[in-house]
Amino acid sequence: MKKIRLPASVTVKELAERLGVPGAQVITYLMQNGVMAALNQSVDFDTAALAADNFGFEAESEEALAKEAAAPATTGTTLRPRHPLLDLSGEDPAKLVPRPPVVAVLGHVDHGKTSILDKIRATSVAAGEAGGITQRIGAYQVERQGRLITFIDTPGHEAFSAMRARGADVTDIAILVVAADDGVMPQTEEAIHHIRSAGVPLVVAINKSDKDGANPDRVLQQLAERQVVPESYGGEVPMVPTSAVTGQGIEDLLDTILLVSDVVSPPRANPDRLAVGTVIDSELERGRGPVATVLVQNGTLRIGDNVVVGRVYGKIRALTDDAGHRVKEAGPSKPVLISGLTDVATAGDVLQVMETEKAARALSELRTNEQRAKVAQPVRRITLSDFAAVQGETKTMTLVLKAEANGSLEALRSQVTKLEDPNVTIKIVGEGVGAVGEADVNLAAVSGAIVIGFNVHPDDRAKAAAEELGVDVRFYDVVYQVTDDIMKSIRGMYEPSFIEVYQGRAEVRKVFTVDGRPAIAGCQVVDGKITRAATCTVRRDGREVGSGKIDALKRFRDDVREVARGYECGITLDGFADFAEGDVLEAHVTEQQNI
Ligand code: GDP
Repeated sequence: MKKIRLPASVTVKELAERLGVPGAQVITYLMQNGVMAALNQSVDFDTAALAADNFGFEAESEEALAKEAAAPATTGTTLRPRHPLLDLSGEDPAKLVPRPPVVAVLGHVDHGKTSILDKIRATSVAAGEAGGITQRIGAYQVERQGRLITFIDTPGHEAFSAMRARGADVTDIAILVVAADDGVMPQTEEAIHHIRSAGVPLVVAINKSDKDGANPDRVLQQLAERQVVPESYGGEVPMVPTSAVTGQGIEDLLDTILLVSDVVSPPRANPDRLAVGTVIDSELERGRGPVATVLVQNGTLRIGDNVVVGRVYGKIRALTDDAGHRVKEAGPSKPVLISGLTDVATAGDVLQVMETEKAARALSELRTNEQRAKVAQPVRRITLSDFAAVQGETKTMTLVLKAEANGSLEALRSQVTKLEDPNVTIKIVGEGVGAVGEADVNLAAVSGAIVIGFNVHPDDRAKAAAEELGVDVRFYDVVYQVTDDIMKSIRGMYEPSFIEVYQGRAEVRKVFTVDGRPAIAGCQVVDGKITRAATCTVRRDGREVGSGKIDALKRFRDDVREVARGYECGITLDGFADFAEGDVLEAHVTEQQNI
């Protein structure tokens, strides 16, 4: 039976289209089963699934699949937690074909990770690409022995673990770069931990072997002490002496990668299905809108495909490969730059192709709603200026961060989280690249967060939403100012700027006394309005004689919130009662100035 994915609710028309049968046939079937639905009416998943079954399709719930996808990957017995969408166990083994291995480069700073990646890339360009015009898109492929290898172009374990944290583990083989003159260093050890926890096979590049102080034997011994046992010591880890400067050992390294890939578990995929992949990098590109580099992991990605990436959806407008060529499709292990997304995707998010645009949009909405639901409690609005005031009870400062590029977002995140102290934890409930949008404001509203925009601006809808929901949205262009404001806020020293906004004027027509003293001003509002939240300045013959916050605002005997122009009211003020007939009460409210 053919499988078909259906959303939680679908119109009869769309259902018929997806099943490839006339609408009338679906209506008739539904009627026979007691469901009266017109072409444009929607039926739920269960009903749609029954109809699908009748026409020879097995229905899968997009909602259930999405939930599954959103669930954290379980470690189970396998070493490599796989995103459910990337799990190949449901694939027909006959359809699985070998795909190029995907390689990540890790190691201590300055040991030559970038140089090795550049050298490999340059070697392959010289051999292959006419003209050698290549584009950095976050990953690239090289050819060796007539076979392809895909390299992730961002070295280091930060990128490696950020992806894994999202359940997307793209790497098949890790290269650990250790400088022969420097040996195992702290980040070498960290990298070993990360590679181990990912459960991927490892190849060590003993780099800088051209240097005078190179001591590869010491490196082997240091690694062996950390249970990374070289083949020459009877272990399983291949070690390749390299030099990113002379190019020595680079081809060996490539051969070793292919060998390890063949021996350990040759990576496979089914190119003949809708694509699933992982976002390696993303940004907002002038003129092109949001673009993302996607590493296709299963299936084939094509122009025109309807995709969902995390909470973002879109239709693939163009695909560009690492050589800068426009391509029509990308199969397993091929990195491509995609355009056509409605928003900037997050690196590490999984991309999946849906049957229709509607389905893609529905899944993206479902995820947005789920995200909102996740953070819906407690609903509490907080601004930077009143954070300290409630510090006694709320010790978590919740933030949504937006920046113009991944790099500055990371810088912002790392600086902001450093501000944590024993009393205040900082929780980032959302972050992303691009303008502050309505979705960011909504997320902040439901999670009591403050939105920090760095080198970005809000769109009009976001502005309106922020106003409506009372969300504090702040814009900065210097990281220091962000951290400074947050610090001040945490310490209760933050001084927001307030402006006084004129509301209206009332004239005192009669002064009522209590115990023989003036107490209540019987007024008529002569301009604007007077609200209970206002503070009034009392003027007599143009001179200020007093002021005070409104204590009571009454129409006849009733307390009221506001009194409009032309109406009479009774006003008492906090701290001033010496009214005289003819006084003018000028009402103001203080509002925080938006920056
Ligand atoms: P990364 O921080 O690990 O990415 O290290 P880089 O690739 O930026 O290299 C750090 C420095 O070491 C640079 O000055 C490189 O030119 C130099 N370097 C990298 N590989 C080699 C090598 O194999 N031999 C020598 N002599 N220098 C190297």
